[in-house]
Amino acid sequence: MIKVWQCIECGYEYEGPKAPTRCPECGADCEAFELYEYEDEEEDWEDEEEWEEDNWDDDKSRRNR
Ligand SMILES: [Zn+2]
Repeated sequence: MIKVWQCIECGYEYEGPKAPTRCPECGADCEAFELYEYEDEEEDWEDEEEWEEDNWDDDKSRRNR
């Protein structure tokens, strides 16, 4: 799981488990960072699996025709 932090001073987005000690854009300290959103890696993986399954079904139905 990746956390996305956003600097409230300049809007800089940082991905990582913890907020950076200092904003590389405006130099604000870690207190200026707010948790912006979560990126759920597990969900992405499920989507990929579903896509493969769809492809497989498509391939099978083509053979039956
Ligand atoms: Zn900033």
